[in-house]
Amino acid sequence: EKNVYFFGGGKAEGTADMRELLGGKGANLADMSSAGVPVPAGFTISTRACAAYYENNKQHPESLQKEVAEHLARLEKLMGKKLGDANDPLLVSVRSGAAASMPGMMDTVLNLGMNDKAVEGLAKVSGNDRFAWDAYRRFLQMFGDVVKGCDHEKFEEALNSVKAEKGVEEDLDLDTEDLKKVVEKYKAVYRDHVGTDFPQDPVEQLWGSINAVFGSWHNPRAEKYRRLNNIKGLIGTAVNVQSMVYGNLGDTSGTGVCFTRDASTGENYFYGEYLMNAQGEDVVAGIRTPQPLQSLADANPEMYKQLDDIRSKLEKHYRDMQDLEFTIQQGTLYILQTRNGKRTGLAAIKIAVDMVAEGLITKEEAVTRVTPEQLDQVFHPMIDPAARKSAPVIAKGLNASPGAAAGEIVFTADEAEDWVKNKGKKVLLVRRETSPEDIGGMHVAEGILTSTGGMTSHAAVVARGMGKPSIVGCKALQIDHAKKTLTVEGKVYKEGDFFTMDGTAGEVFEGTLPLIKPELKGELDEFLAWADEIRTTANRPGLTDQVFRIRTNADTPGDATVARNYGAQGIGLCRTEHMFFEEDKIATFREMIVAKDVEARKAALAKLMPLQKKDFVGIFEAMAGLPVTIRLLDPPLHEFVPHEAAQIEQLAKSTGVSVDELKRKIESLHELNPMLGHRGCRLGITYPEVYDMQVEAIMSAAVEVAKKGMEVEPEIMIPLVGAVKELSILKANAEKVVARVFEEAGTTTAYKIGTMIEIPRAALTADEVAQEAEFFSFGTNDLTQMTFGYSRDDVGTFLPQYVEDEILEHDPFAVLDQTGVGQLVEIGVERGRKARPDLKVGICGEHGGEPSSVEFCYRTGLNYVSCSPYRVPIARLAAAHAVL
Ligand code: ADP
Ligand code: MG
Ligand code: MG
Repeated sequence: EKNVYFFGGGKAEGTADMRELLGGKGANLADMSSAGVPVPAGFTISTRACAAYYENNKQHPESLQKEVAEHLARLEKLMGKKLGDANDPLLVSVRSGAAASMPGMMDTVLNLGMNDKAVEGLAKVSGNDRFAWDAYRRFLQMFGDVVKGCDHEKFEEALNSVKAEKGVEEDLDLDTEDLKKVVEKYKAVYRDHVGTDFPQDPVEQLWGSINAVFGSWHNPRAEKYRRLNNIKGLIGTAVNVQSMVYGNLGDTSGTGVCFTRDASTGENYFYGEYLMNAQGEDVVAGIRTPQPLQSLADANPEMYKQLDDIRSKLEKHYRDMQDLEFTIQQGTLYILQTRNGKRTGLAAIKIAVDMVAEGLITKEEAVTRVTPEQLDQVFHPMIDPAARKSAPVIAKGLNASPGAAAGEIVFTADEAEDWVKNKGKKVLLVRRETSPEDIGGMHVAEGILTSTGGMTSHAAVVARGMGKPSIVGCKALQIDHAKKTLTVEGKVYKEGDFFTMDGTAGEVFEGTLPLIKPELKGELDEFLAWADEIRTTANRPGLTDQVFRIRTNADTPGDATVARNYGAQGIGLCRTEHMFFEEDKIATFREMIVAKDVEARKAALAKLMPLQKKDFVGIFEAMAGLPVTIRLLDPPLHEFVPHEAAQIEQLAKSTGVSVDELKRKIESLHELNPMLGHRGCRLGITYPEVYDMQVEAIMSAAVEVAKKGMEVEPEIMIPLVGAVKELSILKANAEKVVARVFEEAGTTTAYKIGTMIEIPRAALTADEVAQEAEFFSFGTNDLTQMTFGYSRDDVGTFLPQYVEDEILEHDPFAVLDQTGVGQLVEIGVERGRKARPDLKVGICGEHGGEPSSVEFCYRTGLNYVSCSPYRVPIARLAAAHAVL
């Protein structure tokens, strides 16, 4: 089994597609060598060897030692130099590099091969004593630090003592004799820490460094980086042993890093930084301030041109923006690394669109180049990355709704409204949790932060619907609503203190950080048009309607309009209950709930009907020509009744029901497990007049809008069906109302009656349900809740740990559980279509805007996904990805 791969001299044993085995750095070094890019020669030890090292108790098999020795000999031959040679020594770097890029997370050793003899040799051939001794002391320090864990400080102290003795401050002010002293002191530091002398044998140095690089795969920093970036399934790092080139060989030498395009804006502009007379690590270490690349163009046009030529060569070769490292040794350019550069969402879209125009990539490739997360970035303000770097995160929670916001913290929805409307302030609403009564405050707040709740908690769902940043389940926040204080790790904050939050990352900062809003109009529209084209022209065999559509969850005409502008092709879920919380309706709605008898209830409903109808008219108009699915009342009535004494008294006054009687009513509505209680179609069965009123409001609105000449496509959706009988009764009731509305109006419109599939039993008996239902919409929030048996409002207590401990790969309320819940979706689709081949099927849970779930829905043959307005573009892109 081959584990070492040579590169150099215009050839290489590895290729670009061997990333898994050679790491990204190794694969690209090999690839660049073959492509004739000037890369210093060397060899790569595979990631497989790293895995074996860990499996065998940190030992290497003899075969690997032999392979490395052979490749080292080959390198020495090619270079015409030998490690440790007293006349013309070869020096190498030993570099980490895994299949996924983990910049700066693992270790690298430079100038390896230095010893008491080699330093003389290097001095001789370079004709530069100072350079040779500087290289020696750099190696001692790096080897001691990286391989043996010597205290970095001790080396600094030694260096500083020599500088102090001489009375200088800069490294560059030390001459050869001074550096010799530094070397002696470094050797002493090494001996003190390790207990033995610094090894003069280069082969011993080499293996020590190889093992250190393998070892850095599991350092805490690297592990954390992998965890945070969700890098999984890699077996280890490769090791690249590469001959050194010297950027510190005088004023015609230098080193730098650059991006072939601007990584933050995507501008086609050669962006980079460099230092003359310096070695690789100096640029990042911040000891000296690097120069912008453009000044190289002025200082040394010849060298700049070489670099600029390589820039276009590499972009053409990799057909993507590159992030590269270069070194110039006495006027000769070398490339030490190239990789696809990390970029902001803004840059990702701009670069993808530009590269299509330049003929470098196809539209399909452009669409695959941008991740849904990157696309999402361009719709939200973000914290200025420069300011963010130095700002400490004071708390972390679930990233419920993306974007950044800053403002003064307030603890009640009423205060939020007061501060914003009357005092002209910007606020962040901070609560333990939110409830429907907080809508007003949520609406005016810049962002919403809760200490409890999960990804489908009220705060999360509503914030996403509003397109507002939100962090939920932020356990570190101890909120005292009474005292109006917030305590985080012992530090107390008061109402009015300034905070900044980043809903994209789920991070909370103290104080006000600057926010920036990405700008990108033309490119964005063009990019999304390509995504739509891919989605809408896809061939989906076996489906009556071939087009996979993106709808939205919208409860108001305003939301519907926003969503339509973002490309929504209809409403997949209009929740009617939010309407009842509006000021003009809540009192009447409560009257309806506590009504003495059916007559009183009907009277209250009669007052509500025209109000609801008005809402529906607005929504139908906003969505003219597109389907609108309206769900009949779903939540338990208990959520709507007042619980505070004053409110109860007021209700008593307006209804004529006594306070005691009201209290008894409210008490009787209380359920131990309301989510599994008296809600959804169960309300429709026990209070048929409620659903009758809603159907009347929907259909009379539809008729009215149709009469104005607009096309309406109402779809009446009955929630929480578990047995087909529920649906057949409610459908029959609804049809009676529809017939009456049509008769009174003297006209008709098209309409459909369907159901949500959100109870496992409904999915399993979908063939029966489809006898009655003209469409299905998977309510995957409830379906997930009931399939897992997790109360979605209470998951905050254990779910984060489940994800942390990898009991579950993801929060199933955020990412559809394809293996479990997904089966119910598949069964539902299959059995439903067996009974009704042209059954229209969609999804309206929170998963409708989550990329991997959208892909699942596409694959499973759904006709559409429905998501919050601000997720519509994300779903458009995710759907295109599903097709490609
Ligand atoms: P990282 O992954 O942290 O960037 P690298 O292995 O790329 O680590 O190396 C760190 C620095 O050392 C880079 O600036 C790189 O260009 C420089 N470097 C690595 N190998 C050599 C070499 N053979 N000659 C000159 N400089 C090198
Ligand atoms: Mg690097
Ligand atoms: Mg539901």
